[in-house]
Amino acid sequence: MKVEEVHKIFGELHALDGVSEEIHKGEVVVIVGPSGSGKSTFLRSLNLLETPSKGHIYFEGTDITDKKVDINKHRQKMGMVFQHFNLFPHKTILQNITLAPVKLKLQSKEEAEKKGMELLRRVGLEEKANAYPSQLSGGQKQRIAIIRSLAMNPEVMLFDEPTSALDPEMVGEVLDLMKQLARDGMTMVVVTHEMGFAKEVATRVIFMDEGRIKEQGTPEEFFDHPKDERLKEFLSKIL
Ligand code: ADP
Ligand code: MG
Repeated sequence: MKVEEVHKIFGELHALDGVSEEIHKGEVVVIVGPSGSGKSTFLRSLNLLETPSKGHIYFEGTDITDKKVDINKHRQKMGMVFQHFNLFPHKTILQNITLAPVKLKLQSKEEAEKKGMELLRRVGLEEKANAYPSQLSGGQKQRIAIIRSLAMNPEVMLFDEPTSALDPEMVGEVLDLMKQLARDGMTMVVVTHEMGFAKEVATRVIFMDEGRIKEQGTPEEFFDHPKDERLKEFLSKIL
């Protein structure tokens, strides 16, 4: 997908100040930067949860910022995982996973349940199929949120600080699932503070500051030879 000169203005605030970027199939792009630098706004713009004030976003060749486009059709192909898992509390785990594909008539109930059970097996949580979200740990809930997105067969997965709300001992199991997805070739855009993850699986790391992309490169270039002064300062604080 391609982002062209995107601006997002909230009142007086320029949350995105002319961002251009291209994300290729199979890439794992990690976005880092200080709080308030526009990382979430950028990610949310990719599937138009935020409508750009200016600029264009192309997904599979279609300008999805074009008002005539049926955004729901495109959004289905972009999975999104948030800091908070947003599971439906009154539905079972399997129902949480099958709800969207069945409702949108992408899969029959039987197909969706079969696929849902396969996904649950993949993350070792098949015995939780009939449990409710409140019966799961934070790490389990986040892994369910991820496979719920995968049930839609997305072309790209967007992650906004997926491990930030987890107890430290549960971070690893979520990162492991994300690493597995990356190895399987999923196109991923990940906002995270987990620099180990960035170093291990990112094909590219992007530094955002004040609504702009200030620097980007391979993990080696980015972490070992940063050029931007603000990035150097940022890295000195977190590494
Ligand atoms: P990050 O994810 O890097 O912490 P955000 O993209 O959430 O940054 O926010 C960028 C800036 O835009 C911040 O100053 C934030 O307060 C502001 N912002 C984000 N969403 C809104 C909104 N819905 N209304 C007003 N301001 C917003
Ligand atoms: Mg954010």
